[in-house]
Amino acid sequence: MAVVVMKFGGTSVATVDRIRNVARHVKREVDAGNRVAVVVSAMSGVTNQLVGYVREASVLHDAREYDAVVATGEQVTAGLLAIVLQSIGVPARSWQGWQIPIKTSAAHGSARILDVLGGEIRKRLDQGEVAVITGFQGIEPHGNRVATLGRGGSDTSAVAMAVALDAEVCDIYTDVDGVYTTDPRIVPKAKRLPKVSYEEMLEMASLGSKVLQTRSVELAMVHKVRTRVLSSFVAPEAMQPVRAGVLEDIGTIVCDEDEIVEQQVVSGIAYAKDEAKVTILKVEDKPGIAARIFGPLADASINVDMIVQNITPDGKHTDMTFTVQASELPRTLEVLKSAKQDIGYFDVKSSADVVKISVIGIGMRSHAGVAAMMFKSLSEKGINILAISTSEIKISVLIDAAYAELAVRSLHTLYGLDAA
Ligand code: ADP
Ligand code: ASP
Ligand code: MG
Repeated sequence: MAVVVMKFGGTSVATVDRIRNVARHVKREVDAGNRVAVVVSAMSGVTNQLVGYVREASVLHDAREYDAVVATGEQVTAGLLAIVLQSIGVPARSWQGWQIPIKTSAAHGSARILDVLGGEIRKRLDQGEVAVITGFQGIEPHGNRVATLGRGGSDTSAVAMAVALDAEVCDIYTDVDGVYTTDPRIVPKAKRLPKVSYEEMLEMASLGSKVLQTRSVELAMVHKVRTRVLSSFVAPEAMQPVRAGVLEDIGTIVCDEDEIVEQQVVSGIAYAKDEAKVTILKVEDKPGIAARIFGPLADASINVDMIVQNITPDGKHTDMTFTVQASELPRTLEVLKSAKQDIGYFDVKSSADVVKISVIGIGMRSHAGVAAMMFKSLSEKGINILAISTSEIKISVLIDAAYAELAVRSLHTLYGLDAA
């Protein structure tokens, strides 16, 4: 017998009929004697609609009330799944984040999970009851208010529950049957990865592969939670239930790198569309200038990602180009405007028509030439690179948005990732 956490995303619970399908997956595990905690997302499209209502109500709004509104999506799904489970004879109870409680930081809209008190849920599971838990939310410490975890946050709720319940596995059911070498909706030749290391998954998620929320991977890595990505659209009865000590090789297993026997140099390609490029023209090339530009941005909690500095022909001035999240562009421009006197620049240009394409693989640690291949291939396609950043296991380039798909497809072929 095993404790199993099963998470179902928006498309998997999009209708009551699909919730019935989810209930059959849960029943399979219960019938095999497993103790099951289920984490659910809002029905597909609901969170977007709720966010839309909030913005319509007021562009500038209280983050606590944003959370009060958007947290409701998951509450609906949890209640519905508990009802459907009960109707097929599976004892079940729904739980909202605050009832467990899942304790979070006070950062409304992007709160972090600080602690999960799993005692009551564990007791219920041992009594044979399924716990259906709202993803995406917990309770913050100051005002005892609901706080949400940021978009895609139900993945993180699931991993946190798996930690708290010391689960055998955290199964993330979604609308694809695993993690692919790149988004299968963009590249039909993408291949499913039977296993992917925590490190690579972390890079893929943070560089734009939204199949798992970045924080969920961080949490899984720190606590060594065995996490699988599976499709909820496979017939529930055609899948084997989880057995303690044996993890069946289906979907994608996110695990330690030494569990992966056949390591590729490049495992995946990610792309992020929510980037914006800012160029500050003609700032003095002298010590302290970067601090004067990036200090105020940091003070405003704006994350700067890629940075490029160019020397202008007179040798005394430089242009500074950097990227921020597209949603932060208006604030970034505001901050730079206020700091104009102090920085001393000629002009600021910006564009959100850019994408970041990243090539990821732990094999890069021991293989030279991966970046050179990438640059050559992009240049042969006539794609201009606007900025570059690298780490031990990834190379990212910023390019014009119009070339995004061409770049992803060609790199996918270049590194031998295409399915036969
Ligand atoms: P859910 O609603 O179940 O949380 P998401 O939409 O958040 O599902 O994540 C699943 C989607 O992630 C897939 O439909 C796919 O388009 C996208 N995706 C992006 N990159 C990848 C990748 N490398 N492998 C698999 N799916 C990916
Ligand atoms: N419903 C939330 C969202 O759409 C959380 C999630 O699905 O993980 O972002
Ligand atoms: Mg998701």
